[in-house]
Amino acid sequence: MTLKLGVIGCGAIGREHIRRCSKVLQGAEVIAVSDINAQGARDVVNSLGLNAEIYADGMDVINAPQVDAILVTSWDPTHEAFTLAAVAAGKYVFCEKPLAMSAEGCRRIVDAEMTQGKRLVQVGFMRPYDSGYQALKKVIDRGDIGELLMLHCAHRNQSVAENYTTDMAITNTLIHELDVLRWLTDDDYKTVQVVYPRTTTKSHSGLKDPQIVLFETQKGIRIDVEIFVNCSYGYDIQCEVVGEDGIARLPEPSSIQLRKEARLANTILTDWKDRFIDAYDVELQAFINDVKADRLTGPSAWDGFAASVAADACLRAQQSAAIEPVSMPPRPSFYGN
Ligand code: NAP
Repeated sequence: MTLKLGVIGCGAIGREHIRRCSKVLQGAEVIAVSDINAQGARDVVNSLGLNAEIYADGMDVINAPQVDAILVTSWDPTHEAFTLAAVAAGKYVFCEKPLAMSAEGCRRIVDAEMTQGKRLVQVGFMRPYDSGYQALKKVIDRGDIGELLMLHCAHRNQSVAENYTTDMAITNTLIHELDVLRWLTDDDYKTVQVVYPRTTTKSHSGLKDPQIVLFETQKGIRIDVEIFVNCSYGYDIQCEVVGEDGIARLPEPSSIQLRKEARLANTILTDWKDRFIDAYDVELQAFINDVKADRLTGPSAWDGFAASVAADACLRAQQSAAIEPVSMPPRPSFYGN
């Protein structure tokens, strides 16, 4: 059976996901789309030659009886309402990060899903599907570098738009690290502090950039994450894990090494779509397969909630400059151990 998908949001990642579900992946077709900008939705349908119905309102995509599962790829503040509506309709939903704008919003989704009695929500945290992160996790889980002591990470973007604000460094950017570092270390955050180096002159007024976020985990691991969204040189994700027996680093994306004019050079990617292109493919193929098997296994609403609990503490730490606690309630058995 071909899974019939409805996609809400036809911006940058919406177009990418519609393309991969229609042209790259197996077992699904996009039959309904919606965007607040109807022309954007028409453009993607026409450019890919899809036979998909265009709806003015995302809620109508969710309620269309012929739609089996939903992808939410619209603007962050719309995620909670669309995901809750999909859960209420009993439909599987893949929601791009962040799951909601606050931990309370994520908790409402967790509660709605538990009331439905089965997992219906997957959050668009794709890094656990990246081959580099998977290799790093394997090294950690095998015990190759012993007990973990520290992680040094960086999330750098070339530049951001004028509407990108200081808090979005947490809710929109760091949110990926908040998920993947929990997964890598198999640990939860205990405290967080945010410190600000000098702001780059390349930042627009009102945006503090870079920022350094410092965590202590429940096991006592120390993590520092540099968020630098106007770094100029490229889109660069770094992660170095320090254990008591050795150090493991996230591999660099493969690129041609160029020896020329007395220089040795590697290309650095500039676009997140290229850096994680394979991970997005694997992530969405897994979602399609899992929905067809009636059993989700990817990042859950609980993972979305956990990342948002940490994000809320980071936002408090941005304001207070103090060390803020991250108060994570125990995981319900519904979400496994
Ligand atoms: P974008 O290019 O701004 O696209 C968002 C789209 O959603 C826009 O076309 C926007 O229309 C539309 N939209 C806004 N409100 C809507 C509504 N009520 N109903 C239907 N459509 C609506 O942003 P993007 O980069 O694609 O990001 C979309 C989401 O994906 C964000 O939540 C972002 O955090 C997430 N994302 C995840 C990753 C990842 O690595 N997992 C990467 C990129 C983005 P207008 O432009 O007219 O407002």
